[in-house]
Amino acid sequence: LVGGEVDVDTAEDLRRARSFAVGRDFPALEQQVNEKPLVYLDTAATALKPRAVIDAVTQVYARDCANVHRGLHQLSQRASAAYEGARAALGSFLGARSPEEVVFVRGATEALNLVAASWAFPRLGPGDRILVTALEHHANLVPWQVVARRTGAFLDVAPIEPSGDVSLEAFASRLTARTRVVAVSHASNVLGTVLPIRDMARLAHAQGAVLVVDGAQAAPHVRIDVKELDCDFYAVSGHKLYGPSGIGVLWGRAALLADMEPYQVGGDMVAEVAFDGASYRPPPHRFEAGTPNIEGAIGLGAAVRYLRGLDAAAREAHERDLLEYAVSTLEQIPGLEIAGSPSTRIPLLAFAIEDVHPHDLATFLDGEGIAVRAGHHCAQPLLEQLGHTALTRVSFGIYNTHRDIDALAEALRGARDFFS
Ligand code: PLP
Repeated sequence: LVGGEVDVDTAEDLRRARSFAVGRDFPALEQQVNEKPLVYLDTAATALKPRAVIDAVTQVYARDCANVHRGLHQLSQRASAAYEGARAALGSFLGARSPEEVVFVRGATEALNLVAASWAFPRLGPGDRILVTALEHHANLVPWQVVARRTGAFLDVAPIEPSGDVSLEAFASRLTARTRVVAVSHASNVLGTVLPIRDMARLAHAQGAVLVVDGAQAAPHVRIDVKELDCDFYAVSGHKLYGPSGIGVLWGRAALLADMEPYQVGGDMVAEVAFDGASYRPPPHRFEAGTPNIEGAIGLGAAVRYLRGLDAAAREAHERDLLEYAVSTLEQIPGLEIAGSPSTRIPLLAFAIEDVHPHDLATFLDGEGIAVRAGHHCAQPLLEQLGHTALTRVSFGIYNTHRDIDALAEALRGARDFFS
């Protein structure tokens, strides 16, 4: 967490941050791109995978290759134990009260759609209100637009300040006794802003609303304890958390999950089935119809175990040090403007360079072996508000170094010369 608990101004923190080196755990970094050593600055889109995750997924295919929860044979029992072990690891990573609060889904997008379809849709009606913020990713905006359209509820938007922070006063003023759902990002994928979830939970609960948190960007950087955050649902994307793609987690309060209808129906999620009806299993299995992404869940379990094996304070100091170095380095590039300056920020920066289109810039950087993201970052309403149609974004993971930022700065200077 940047700008939060970790103070890298002390010599000891700086030493720890600078000695934090995990690049060797990530085989993808061993390659060259366009004959240059790969500089991977697109972790917010998807993180590279440590060997521990690759090995865990390989082990599923090479040894424990079986369906879960159904077989009496050894392979199935091993796969089931590993799958449920991964659920327990994710529960512990998120501070869940029990693994039963952890539902495996396809990603943050599916987690948010599940809440919209199974919690909100059957409960909301005309006159009810849904509140989001102006910095939401489409994944935490469009599902609520659909709920509002289908139920007659009103979708309201809490504004952001020029810094990219969400003012609690403005947020509170948008809450009413008819607000049933508040859906907010824990961290913005464009501005990096970390939102004050605990305060938002207090304000939402005071009006009787549930708080849904999109943790896709925060979970890889911020220590998560859903009990402390006091939210009601928390969505996690596995591939951004150094795990496989096609897997994610919906954490939900046990009492809320228990009261929800399934999102999809079929095998594995039912208790008893007759021709004239079926009863459902309790959560989390109620929400995991059909064969799940077994290797994805096990790989994600390996990812959070790997992260937990790292020195957390050193890792946080390292990420903050990277961000501070990136800000001070990019600020020296003429014509470059960083979007937003939030008070607390995860390690990513979106920026514009005068007279250089982000897509041209990203292509130029790729030529230098540097991977960045350019575009609207699935947050078109936010970009419009910022006055851009596209931005270039660099985002950092635990494996990045000052050298990566130096390479970026040199390439950005080259791009300015090339395009001017
Ligand atoms: N929410 C935010 C803030 C994101 O940045 C993303 C992905 O970019 C998502 C949700 C969607 O995650 P996924 O594509 O893994 O479902």
